[in-house]
Amino acid sequence: MNFLSQLLPNRTQPPERRRPRRVRGVELKTETEIATMRQAGQIVATVLKEIAEYAQPGQSTADLDAYAEARIRELGATPSFKGYHGFPASICACLNDEVVHGIPRRRQMIRKGDLLKVDTGAYYNGFHGDSCITIAVGPVSDIAQQLMETAEKALYAGIAQVKAGNTLLDIAGAIEDCAHSEGYSIVENYTGHGVGRNLHEPPSVFNFRTKQLPNVKLLAGMTLAIEPILNAGSKHTRTLSDRWTVVTVDRSLSAQFEHTVLVTETGYEILSDRRPL
Ligand code: MG
Ligand code: MG
Repeated sequence: MNFLSQLLPNRTQPPERRRPRRVRGVELKTETEIATMRQAGQIVATVLKEIAEYAQPGQSTADLDAYAEARIRELGATPSFKGYHGFPASICACLNDEVVHGIPRRRQMIRKGDLLKVDTGAYYNGFHGDSCITIAVGPVSDIAQQLMETAEKALYAGIAQVKAGNTLLDIAGAIEDCAHSEGYSIVENYTGHGVGRNLHEPPSVFNFRTKQLPNVKLLAGMTLAIEPILNAGSKHTRTLSDRWTVVTVDRSLSAQFEHTVLVTETGYEILSDRRPL
């Protein structure tokens, strides 16, 4: 025992306050933390399931935001997005050619035939859950329907690659192959991310093959938000003058799905799964 530890006999921290274990900057969560993240994920899943029913022609995206915020709070969490880097709402709502970070607006009405993306996050007991769905409002065009289905398929193809020992490139390759096999482009300037104590934390979970980003090896206890964005036309995007809403440069349709996923020794667990557990 050295001099300092005699002065500070109580230096051992309780388990819940321990220093997080990180590998290449990526935090590995403990069982207790994972249990909390499962609850955060289930709050997000519940809200998105309800939003999918609630979103009807004639409502505004601001109505959806108010609904989501009320439900997140009723379920004992706080909205992860509200105030994040100044974002003013609890959901990102994007219609048709809008790609990500759409600010819900009172004057933005939902219409039959719209492809609506709703992304939301819940902060519960110190941890975030993050998930996004695309909703077809009434019957949509064939291309919208197919784009939406392929975006969801691409997410699950990526998730199927999640297990300890695989790498981020395995996830990215599966997503890329799925999107390109149907002729869709993948938005490259927005990626998935680690998620946990912070809404966005390392690593960047890219959706296409690249050598520009670290190809992290997956380890049990990592928690990743996987969120491919597929466009019917160009992969390129631009940001509107509200400095948040991102749209496709060619005004083509865009679709996205996202889940918060835990890496396990043998595979994965979808923490934001909307199916009954
Ligand atoms: Mg999200
Ligand atoms: Mg995310």
